[in-house]
Amino acid sequence: MKVVLKNLTKRFPNRNKKLPDVIAVNDFDFEIPDGKLIGLLGPSGCGKSTTLNLISGLEKPTSGRVFFGDTDVTDLPPENRGVGLVFQNYALYPHLTVRQNILFPLQNLKGDKKLSKDVMEAKALEAAKLVQIDSLMERKPSELSGGQQQRVAIARALVKMPSVLLLDEPLSNLDARLRLQTREEIRRIQNETGITTIFVTHDQEEAMSISDLIVVMKDGVLQQIGKPQDVYDLPANLFVAKFLGTPAINVFEGEVKGGRLFIGGEDVLSVTGAPDGAVWVGIRPEGFALDEGGAFKAELERVEVMGRDTSVVSTHAGCVTGNIRSIIPSEERPDGSEKTVSFSLKPFKTHLFSKDTEERIPFSD
Ligand code: ADP
Ligand code: MG
Repeated sequence: MKVVLKNLTKRFPNRNKKLPDVIAVNDFDFEIPDGKLIGLLGPSGCGKSTTLNLISGLEKPTSGRVFFGDTDVTDLPPENRGVGLVFQNYALYPHLTVRQNILFPLQNLKGDKKLSKDVMEAKALEAAKLVQIDSLMERKPSELSGGQQQRVAIARALVKMPSVLLLDEPLSNLDARLRLQTREEIRRIQNETGITTIFVTHDQEEAMSISDLIVVMKDGVLQQIGKPQDVYDLPANLFVAKFLGTPAINVFEGEVKGGRLFIGGEDVLSVTGAPDGAVWVGIRPEGFALDEGGAFKAELERVEVMGRDTSVVSTHAGCVTGNIRSIIPSEERPDGSEKTVSFSLKPFKTHLFSKDTEERIPFSD
């Protein structure tokens, strides 16, 4: 089921009554395609949960509409939208077994939707198998690990075969290893069921690794929507460039003159087509190539060996993000005794941003 948001806005009265309303979701106007896994990504407070709640019907929009397929669901209550919900805290019923927890949504069906006991049991088992907890059906939540509890929550959300599955930071309470494993599970379950799934996280790596599309948000405003690699390679603005990638992109004060980019007075790159003037320059850690004749020179701080790659930490007066972190193949690493390192810059890993709007300025090399 595709989900269409049309000029969707949600305002909340500010908790501090003297301050203006909070616009948690500001004029969202985009389409979530059918059968895909979408990552809603942004820092805490940017409006991810509110967006999810507007889609599920737990919140009413201030203005705008929500469509499931061609149906306007804006005025439908959550229980009539066919959505499955999973939250950060699993919220299982502690006194019920795994089986009873998964059965619960089916037992509440009324009228012509009511199911026989056998059908309910079969559906519960099917959902449990999908998340691989079918051997734990008679346990209570307290007898399960965090990861298993979250699987039960996912099974409970899936048992009615929702048309849209909504997951709000479902991995936040898990330790690092379980987080990795469970996110792969979510990807597998989505592939197997083909259910349109919206996955909320503030963790860019989590969103990038499993999503077909990511939606990057800031302060209730959509920043960019696209395939993870495309958004990483061509960030729409400085915020998106800084939010995606570890180590983070390095940002410098720069200046464009006659199609050349200058950082700290040095002519470091050809940027044909970029207009003259001061710019922010973002250079990905993998955008620096060690090059004795390279025009970009930095003071070497230290060399960190990380196995396959080496992280070269250096400083430069033009850098506004602290130390420069560059990643180079380990076999090329400097021995660490040098005072300065010289780099040439890879043009497709270097981005220019307007100092006014912070939007990316395209150029060709
Ligand atoms: P996220 O999930 O990205 O962390 P939220 O959607 O929870 O962000 O919140 C977005 C903004 O809306 C925040 O500034 C938050 O304080 C505000 N907000 C959320 N819910 C309410 C509410 N019920 N009343 C007032 N403000 C709210
Ligand atoms: Mg949230």
